[in-house]
Amino acid sequence: MSRDPADILMLKPMPPAVMDALGAQFTLHQVGSAPDLATLQAGLGPRIRGIAAAAQSPIDGPLMDALPKLEIVASLGVGYDTIDAQGARARGIVVTHTPDVLTDEVADIALGLLLATVRDLPAAERHLRAGLWPKGSYPLTATLRGRTIGILGLGRIGRAIARRLEGFGVGIAYHNRTRVPDVAYAYHPSLIELARAVDTLMIAAPGGPGTAGIVDAAVLAALGPEGILVNIARGSLIDEPALIAALRNRTILGAGLDVFANEPHVPEALLALDRVVLLPHVGSASVHTRAAMGGLVVDNLISWFAGKGPLTPVPETPWSGGP
Ligand code: NAP
Repeated sequence: MSRDPADILMLKPMPPAVMDALGAQFTLHQVGSAPDLATLQAGLGPRIRGIAAAAQSPIDGPLMDALPKLEIVASLGVGYDTIDAQGARARGIVVTHTPDVLTDEVADIALGLLLATVRDLPAAERHLRAGLWPKGSYPLTATLRGRTIGILGLGRIGRAIARRLEGFGVGIAYHNRTRVPDVAYAYHPSLIELARAVDTLMIAAPGGPGTAGIVDAAVLAALGPEGILVNIARGSLIDEPALIAALRNRTILGAGLDVFANEPHVPEALLALDRVVLLPHVGSASVHTRAAMGGLVVDNLISWFAGKGPLTPVPETPWSGGP
């Protein structure tokens, strides 16, 4: 570690344990989620060498340009679609994220959301709590039996979802841009072909411009009237108005969503629908997993400023050797 503790910028607040750990190692500056860039540039900006970025903090070119000594952006979360990683690369800035430590937690939630959606669990529980059980059983539901599940994005989380699904006796298929060599699941070279081949689609691919709106009206129609959509990735992958229309028109049967296009705002039209299970982006949100994610943010910054490189850089800013 250099003799003076490095100055680290924090935009949105992070978990207290992360703040404490960073405060013990670095000089931490909290400036709010939308700092005035001219003020930043004229004041603190030239001292900042690292950013500790809360999940889904926008880190764009103008912000990086206001921080001429910025070396590293350490982000909480595996998805980094709000960070201009190519822009960071062009400026020689490393971006790190928190892969692997959240994979099983998010896959668990994906399976929970799948079961909750197919079997109507939240509505069945509301039926009981409303005192309706003595007046009549909850209606029969759809089933997981006989389903084929398509996974969009057979990466770390997608594979963890597939491993869990193996225990459920369902068919498993997937679409990635690249076929995964060491799995036996059916590969479909396009999303629409995957959607035609399955009745349940689980989304685990990254957000960002490359995937914006790829789950569109045609994909939903291809899923068919028994179709179930589960999204634990990013809301941006779904054409939300097309999904609302598909649910209203019974083009598909139901949807389980942990993520939305404009979080934390959820369209009234979705809230008004039956056969939809909605969670407030809780995929990784356990005490255990958030602590592991926060620890990895801190460890990336410590490793970097000790001259040992980043621990978990994103693919756009690979680490190629000494600092
Ligand atoms: P990952 O290991 O990088 O897997 C992503 C997969 O998506 C890869 O298999 C990749 O394969 C595929 N993919 C990428 N672009 C694609 C495209 N245009 N079309 C089709 N497939 C594409 O990432 P991960 O760790 O599994 O995380 C996945 C995502 O989950 C994250 O990016 C994040 O947004 C989301 N997430 C959400 C929560 C939550 O709380 N709900 C928590 C954690 C993560 P190819 O490169 O071969 O296409």
